[in-house]
Amino acid sequence: MRFDYVVVGAGLAGLTIAERIAGVLDKKVLIIEKRGHIGGTVYDSYNEEGVLIHNYGPHIFHTNDKEVYDYLSRFTKWNDFWHRVLSYVDGNLVPMPITVETVNKLYNLNLSSFEVEDFFKKYAVDIPEVKTSKDVVLCRVGEEIYHKFFENYTKKQWGLDPAEIDTSVISRIPIRTNRDTRYFADRYQGMPRHGYTKMCENMVKNPNIKLLLNTDYKEVIDELEYDALIYTGPTDYFYDYKYGKMAYRSIRFEFETFDCDSYQEAPVVNYPNDYDFTRITEFKKLTWQKHDKTTILKEFPNSDGEPYYPFPTAEYKEQFAKYRAEMEKETKVFFLGRLAEYRYYNMDAVVRSALDLFKEKLAK
Ligand code: FAD
Ligand code: UDP
Repeated sequence: MRFDYVVVGAGLAGLTIAERIAGVLDKKVLIIEKRGHIGGTVYDSYNEEGVLIHNYGPHIFHTNDKEVYDYLSRFTKWNDFWHRVLSYVDGNLVPMPITVETVNKLYNLNLSSFEVEDFFKKYAVDIPEVKTSKDVVLCRVGEEIYHKFFENYTKKQWGLDPAEIDTSVISRIPIRTNRDTRYFADRYQGMPRHGYTKMCENMVKNPNIKLLLNTDYKEVIDELEYDALIYTGPTDYFYDYKYGKMAYRSIRFEFETFDCDSYQEAPVVNYPNDYDFTRITEFKKLTWQKHDKTTILKEFPNSDGEPYYPFPTAEYKEQFAKYRAEMEKETKVFFLGRLAEYRYYNMDAVVRSALDLFKEKLAK
């Protein structure tokens, strides 16, 4: 069978590139997806009780990239949403990221924004060259806050000490001296009004797009003819692990439904120092669904489940460089997305990368 393009993976990366190829170039695309649904990690669905859940963990769209926001807005309306997270520390629920509100609540103080800057300076450790995620926090706020909020959460999430992890990971979380308790400060933030899956379905409505679900691409690829392949699965699998298996961090998701309207004070509560899970999400507080029951999710990170997070360490970057050298030699294959590029991408960055690939390579 012949298609102009074959896309492996129906996550946001695969759907964006397929939508562009089918819509702008008017070419025929086959998307092959090994799961029984589209959306990849952003997939959401209604559970048995009728509560809308994010099956692979809480997803909040946020970006400063207007082109990406406008692009996705073609496929969904948004509920304006400012994500808020509380952290359970020393028996208190305090705002995360660290702000003046966090410090005041935790230490029972009444500092102003200016005073909290001095408070941080007093404890900040002098680190001439910031090299790791641990350094990022220590040089800003010192040992105690590092220990209470970051050290153990990171150990749970990654199975590594923050001193072993690239600066980019903890730098995702700002440390603020103002009273802005939003988790993200991006200009555009929102939840797809009818969910991510609906948004994804709208992306593949073009009749030029055919979908093959429940199929590993290796089962069928030799039967297909195509001009080019866009691959969004794990790259080590593509190359039959010739440079070894890449490590990915995984998560075991444990859902529970309660016969009550509300379970916790915020959409997400982080547990840096207690329990084996990292955080609890209460979906109704993300989706604004009205329902007399509520569903929560506990996340237990581990190393041997489905691949979700590429490992942010020097060792794995070095290993991936070998795969990257192979990828660069390909003429009929383009690699895209969180798994294929081995990058800790957010949704907006994945869409940006797909739009760029389309403009720079495929549309020419
Ligand atoms: P994926 O969604 O993983 O899609 C890849 C697809 O390829 C999958 O569907 C997979 O089944 C398929 N596939 C793999 N191998 C094969 C094969 N051999 N054959 C056929 N198909 C195959 N981002 C945000 O912006 N905000 C958030 O709040 C946020 N929260 C997150 C929370 C969690 C717990 C996780 C894990 C991620 C979160 N992200 C968030 C990141 C976001 O999920 C990703 O950036 C995005 O979904 C990646 O899209 P992708 O298409 O690259 O990968
Ligand atoms: N982090 C932390 N304490 C927290 C929240 C996050 O130490 O309360 C660190 C942890 O290393 C985590 C990283 O910051 O992996 C990025 O957090 P984010 O919330 O962006 O993680 P994600 O939603 O991508 O899992």
